[in-house]
Amino acid sequence: MSHSGILLILSGSSGVGKSTLCKHIIASIPDVRLSVSYTTRPIRDGETHGVEYWFIDQEEFRRMIAQDAFLEWAEVYGNLYGTPRQELLTQIDKGIDVILDVDVQGARNVMKNMPDAVSVFLLPPSLEVLKARLETRGTDNAEVVEHRFQKAQAEIANYVEYDYTIQNGCLEQAIKEFESIIVAEHVRTKRLDRAWVLRHGLARQESNRVS
Ligand code: 5GP
Repeated sequence: MSHSGILLILSGSSGVGKSTLCKHIIASIPDVRLSVSYTTRPIRDGETHGVEYWFIDQEEFRRMIAQDAFLEWAEVYGNLYGTPRQELLTQIDKGIDVILDVDVQGARNVMKNMPDAVSVFLLPPSLEVLKARLETRGTDNAEVVEHRFQKAQAEIANYVEYDYTIQNGCLEQAIKEFESIIVAEHVRTKRLDRAWVLRHGLARQESNRVS
C-alpha cells in the first residue's frame, strides 16, 4: 500500500534533546529524514554546513523569503531560521517522512498550512534538569544560557497545542514513544492511499456507509 510521507513537527526548548532524539529515529526507522533548515546563526564548533543547517547571511536569507522558498521562517534568539519548501514537499511525495525541528512560531505556521502534519512537543523531565543541560552544553555564554532558559519556560507553556507530548527523561523511552507515534500515524485510515482504495473496490463500501 503506498502512502505519502508524513510531515512531523518536533518542538521543544533548546537543550531538551531534540537533535539526539532525531538522530536515533533517523537511524532506526527507514525513510525518515530531518529537514535541514537555513539559518543566519553563526556556525558552532562541530557543526557542518549542510548537515545541521545551511548557514547563510541575512542578505541571502531575505532573497529566499522574497522567492517564497520557505514553508515557514521565524526569528529565534535574534537569528533567522527557515524551512526550505521544495525539498520537503518532494520527499513527502516520494513517501519519505520528514521531521521539522522548529520553534513554536514555526510549528504554528506549519500546522496552519499543512493540516496533515503531526506535531510532537518534547518536554524536559524538569526545569532544573533543563537548566543544567543548557549550562553543560558549553556552546553559549552565561547570558545566552539565561536568555534561552527564560525563553524555554515560556515555550514549554505551548505544549498543549501539539498532538503528542513526549517527556525526555529517559532517552530510550522517548525514542520508543516517537517511533510508536510514527508507526501509528502511518496506519491512520485518513492516510489510506485513494488509488489503493479504488483498485481494491473499497470505494463502493465507503459510499454505502450510512453517515
Ligand atoms: P539552534 O540554533 O539552537 O540550533 O536552534 C534554535 C531554535 O531554532 C530551536 O528551537 C529550533 O527548533 C529552532 N529552529 C531551527 N530551525 C528552524 C526553522 O527552520 N524554523 C523555525 N521556525 N525554527 C527553527
